[in-house]
Amino acid sequence: MTIPLHKNFNLACAIHRHCLAHPDSPAVVCKDRSLTYGELAERAARLAACLTRSPGWQRSDGQPPRVGILASRGVDACVALLGACWAGATYVPIGLKQPEERILSLLSQCALSAVITDDEGAKLLTKRLRAACPPLLIHAGQTLVTDDTGELPDLVALATLAPVTPEEPAPMAPSDTAYIIFTSGTTGVPKGVMISAGAARHYVTMIAERLGLRASDRALETCELSFDFSVHNMFSTWEVGAALHILPANTVMNAVKFARTSGLTVWNSVPSLAGMLRQVKALAPDSLASLRVTVFGGEQLPASTVVAWQAAAPNSTIVNLYGPTEATVFCLAQPVGAALPLTPGRDVVAIGTPLPGNEAAVVDEHGQPLPDGTPGELVIAGEQLADAYLGAAELTAARFPTFAGKRWYRTGDLALRDATGSFHCLGRIDNQVKVLGYRVELEEIDAHLRVATGADVVGAVAWPLADGMARGIVAFVGASTIDADTVINALRSRIPAYMLPNRIIALATMPLNGSGKVDRRALRQLLEDAAA
Ligand code: AMP
Repeated sequence: MTIPLHKNFNLACAIHRHCLAHPDSPAVVCKDRSLTYGELAERAARLAACLTRSPGWQRSDGQPPRVGILASRGVDACVALLGACWAGATYVPIGLKQPEERILSLLSQCALSAVITDDEGAKLLTKRLRAACPPLLIHAGQTLVTDDTGELPDLVALATLAPVTPEEPAPMAPSDTAYIIFTSGTTGVPKGVMISAGAARHYVTMIAERLGLRASDRALETCELSFDFSVHNMFSTWEVGAALHILPANTVMNAVKFARTSGLTVWNSVPSLAGMLRQVKALAPDSLASLRVTVFGGEQLPASTVVAWQAAAPNSTIVNLYGPTEATVFCLAQPVGAALPLTPGRDVVAIGTPLPGNEAAVVDEHGQPLPDGTPGELVIAGEQLADAYLGAAELTAARFPTFAGKRWYRTGDLALRDATGSFHCLGRIDNQVKVLGYRVELEEIDAHLRVATGADVVGAVAWPLADGMARGIVAFVGASTIDADTVINALRSRIPAYMLPNRIIALATMPLNGSGKVDRRALRQLLEDAAA
């Protein structure tokens, strides 16, 4: 298909634009490495040339080819991801913190045409994983290590490819899938959320304008590529030609020092990070004086965090952004001023009003709108909705119903709209929780617990809570005794570290609710009583 250049929805177009206009401006910085827009564009275009020239690159179904990104956050991960974009592919982040079984399950769902790794990703390539990857495997990192059998994996090294002059990124139509991000799934299998290039472009241009981002900004990246907050961090920064400063994963508790030495002007993180910094007393008054914009998003924002932040970053605006992966990063926004816009009865900030191009409503179980002040399920419509869950038509139909002639996404969040039109999130209707910012379906842990223990009746709960937010998971198993270490070890090979229970408790009689299901509220009460 030929698409006029100005209608190219490829996310990499911003990099190309800035590479032409100011090639020497810094685009990405991590540890002691940095790339300018010119260097980033050249490396991404070089990767793209290798991808598009590979045999069988075009898919027979006319969809963009899919490229897995097996990389941790860092400069090479950005190159890998942009190389895939530049080639007109759908990029699929493969989180490194997952056990091998889960990566294999993801690979089997995606029909990838290529995988690009950085150094950290390449270290995970056991013989078994390599065999499950597509033939084209590219190493965008600096050093290769031998695999589990002592051999060097057969990868094409980016460094050995001939340099190119970056041309316009491959054309992408708005309906082409820009990326697929996997989130926790209740059945035990992660679900792949498919976001179109049109939705992604809309989000990026809209949010960069709404936040008033500038080319002179230095913006923080705190997320792995497998969390869609990273889409915001990278692409809103690059949209305006600013510099992305990546906080290395092992220095998160030094984030304030990092912000000061990097002279950050834009902070992007989940509130949990700010909460942890407050706890370790790193948020001294005026310690973040260079910040002019703070974005908190992805989980509830406690008032206590805001108060500490306002003192630490007195020159910064603060905005609370709300959104599920299924509605392209964030779709509602609440600016936070001196008078905190709190949700009544809870010490958390309201989630505000829909961002341009989005619509929100509170409905009952039949999709009928509820009057202001009445709690119900929050549903979202508009330009940012995902197209589907990968290979899951039934789930897609259930979660994206059509009410009154319009397609909506049922968020599973319990919410209300107040008389001023502002939305408030009151918790979940289902058993999804956020653990230190990670989205987790408790049923997914249950599914793996059943396999690991052989018990039918199990129940995972989010525990402990601090400022109303989960810091971990405790699992209950319907059995008189349990070998907790064996179960944890079995789970370790099935679920990512952030989902691992920190305790496993055997209960001969599990509490059940009125419908005969495991009563998680009662389980939490047991923990509360024990703590008291
Ligand atoms: P994720 O898909 O990982 O972004 O998780 C989406 C879920 O996180 C939402 O459905 C909410 O339950 C929760 N969430 C995201 N942003 C906020 C926010 N600002 N306030 C409260 N909850 C949020």
